[in-house]
Amino acid sequence: MIVELRGVSKLYGDVAALHEVSMDIHEGELVGIVGPSGSGKSTMLNMIGTLDRPTAGTVRISGHDVSTLTDKQLSALRANVIGFVFQQFHLAAGVPALDNVADGLLYAGPSLRERRLRAYDALERVGLGHRLGHRPHELSGGERQRVAIARAVVGDPTLLLADEPTGNLDSRSGAGVMQLLRELHAAGTTVVIITHDRDIAASLPRQVAMLDGRVVPEARTGLLEEART
Ligand code: ADP
Repeated sequence: MIVELRGVSKLYGDVAALHEVSMDIHEGELVGIVGPSGSGKSTMLNMIGTLDRPTAGTVRISGHDVSTLTDKQLSALRANVIGFVFQQFHLAAGVPALDNVADGLLYAGPSLRERRLRAYDALERVGLGHRLGHRPHELSGGERQRVAIARAVVGDPTLLLADEPTGNLDSRSGAGVMQLLRELHAAGTTVVIITHDRDIAASLPRQVAMLDGRVVPEARTGLLEEART
């Protein structure tokens, strides 16, 4: 099991962003997280990504109970197991694509030459081998997201977490990014995607639906879909 959440709650003041969420994700799955704005999707993804600690409950990633890890071990887990992609790309301004991706390996510590070689491979994988020297402002939105995906996968993570990766893209670029995420999944990466796009969600093999900080039991997800249409 790559992700195990047990009774995970996250409180902000008296708001429960997550309320006793239990959920498993098996290695090799492709999962969509869906639900209305404010339902707790990003909070849950941040828990899975160990970017945030729960108020209560257990988060286990790749077998490690996150609460037992030191900051250093957590950083190592993030660097070696988890890749992130965000709606806003989060690329460094003014930095060429090759180095934006190579910086994804800073924690792992190989030489600059090795980092750049691996960054080149990752950019080739996302179809941007011809854009190595381009800075973010010289790239289209779809290309920027591809660079961000290359940076997320340059360390060969087992788990790729994407928070609305197509949210800032036109539908054609969005479809390209989804295709790329599917290819990474087909190559063995576990992929978890938050999406508002119902067509994208419907096309994924598993959907986890959130409502008011809770996971809607999966047997009922289909009923909710039917009720909406
Ligand atoms: P979603 O991703 O589904 O839109 P979020 O996980 O971002 O939902 O938020 C869930 C709830 O928690 C919302 O009510 C939101 O306002 C609240 N929340 C999220 N992050 C914070 C924070 N840092 N401080 C206070 N409240 C927060």
